[in-house]
Amino acid sequence: MLASPQKRYIDQFAELSLGGLTRQELFWLTAPGGHMALLGNRRAQMILSRVRLVAALFAVLTPLWTLVDYVAFRLDLWALLALGRFTATAALLWLFFGLRGRTRMKDARWAIGLLFAIPTVFYLYSAILLEQHVLSGLARAVAATHTFLPFLLLAGMSIFPLTAVEALALAAPILLAKIWASLLHWPPPDWPAVAGAFWLLLLVTAVAMFSSMSQLAFVIVLVRQAIRDPLTGSFSRYSGEELLELQFTLASRSGAPLAVAFIDLDHFKQVNDDYGHDTGDTLLRDTVNTITSQLRTGDILARWGGEEFLLVMPHTDCRQALVGLERLRAQPLATRPDGTGQTASIGVAERTADGAANWKALVDLADARMYRAKQAGRDRVVACDF
Ligand code: GH3
Ligand code: MG
Ligand code: MG
Repeated sequence: MLASPQKRYIDQFAELSLGGLTRQELFWLTAPGGHMALLGNRRAQMILSRVRLVAALFAVLTPLWTLVDYVAFRLDLWALLALGRFTATAALLWLFFGLRGRTRMKDARWAIGLLFAIPTVFYLYSAILLEQHVLSGLARAVAATHTFLPFLLLAGMSIFPLTAVEALALAAPILLAKIWASLLHWPPPDWPAVAGAFWLLLLVTAVAMFSSMSQLAFVIVLVRQAIRDPLTGSFSRYSGEELLELQFTLASRSGAPLAVAFIDLDHFKQVNDDYGHDTGDTLLRDTVNTITSQLRTGDILARWGGEEFLLVMPHTDCRQALVGLERLRAQPLATRPDGTGQTASIGVAERTADGAANWKALVDLADARMYRAKQAGRDRVVACDF
C-alpha cells in the first residue's frame, strides 16, 4: 500500500494530466492486462478502424512516390525501389482487406504490429539499396526523404490509444531499424548528425507515447461514463447490450443456461404526474437499490429504458430465475409517495429452454412476456415453460 501523501500526489497528477483517472485506471495506461471487456472492445474498434484508414492512405501514397524516385534515381536503382514499394503496397492492401469485419483486441494487436512492420521492412530494404550508391544533387535529397520514414512511423503511433508497454513494443523495432541503418556505413561519415537524429527520434517516441496514452485515457473516461446510467448507477443500456452479448457467446460455447428478466415498473407515470419528476427519479433510484441488493455475484442489471430494466442472470435456468424473482417480489421494490409498494411486471426468457438464436431474440421474448404480465393484471412474472 502507498502512504497517503503519495496517494494524494498520484491522484493530483491524474487529475491534472489525465482528466481525473482513478488509480486503477492509471494502471490500465501502463499495460493491457486487466482491462475490462468493454474497454477492450472499444479500443479494438478504434485501433482496427485507424489501422485500416492508415493502410489505405499508405497503399495510395507508397506507389505514387515511385514517380519522385523515377525523376531522382538511375533506372536500375529506381526499379529495385519500385519493387519494394509495390510489395509494401500489396502488403498494405492485404492488411486493409483482411481486417474487414474483425473486432477483437487480438486482431487489433496483430493489425497495428503489421501496419508498423511493413514500412519498417521497406525502410531497411531501401536503406540497403541507397547505401550501395553514391548519390548527389536531387538524388541525394530524395534519398534523404527515405531516412525520415522512422520519424513518420513513430509520430504516427500517436493516433492510436495505446498503453505504455504497447507503445514501447511498437517503437523498439523501429528504433533498432534506425540504428541498424545508421551502422550500414561504418564508421558513420558524420557521426554527430547521426547521434543528433537518433536523439530527435527518441524525443518523437516519447511525445508519441504520451499522446497514445492520453488517447487511451480519453477512451477510459468515455467508456466509464457510458457504462453506468447516471441516475440509478445501474449499467447503461449500451454496456448492458455488450455484456449480454458477451454472456450469450460464453453460454452458447459452454452450453450453459442464461436467463434474462425484462422488468417494467407498474403505473410509474402516475407518480410523475401526481408528485413530479424528481419524486419519480427518487423512486427509480430506490427500486434499483432494492434490486441490486438482491443480486447474486455475476448478475447484471441494466437500465433498458425509462422505467424498464433488464436483469441478466448467467448460469441460471428458468426455474432458478423464477425462484430468484419471486424472492425479489416478496417485498415491495420501493415505497411510492402514497405509501403503497412499487410493483413490477416481469417477463423471463432463457437461452436453452426457449432455444433463442441470439441475445436480441432472448430480450424480445422476455419483453413480449412482460407485456403478457401487464395484460394479465400487472404485478406478476410470466416465465418460460419448464
Ligand atoms: P405501466 O404499468 O403500463 O407500465 O404504466 P407506466 O405508467 O409505468 O408506463 P408508461 O410507459 O406509460 O410510463 C413510463 C413513464 O416513465 C413515462 C415517463 O414519464 C417515466 N420516465 C421515464 N424515464 C424517467 C426518468 O428518468 N425519470 C422519471 N421521473 N420518470 C421517467
Ligand atoms: Mg415502460
Ligand atoms: Mg411501466
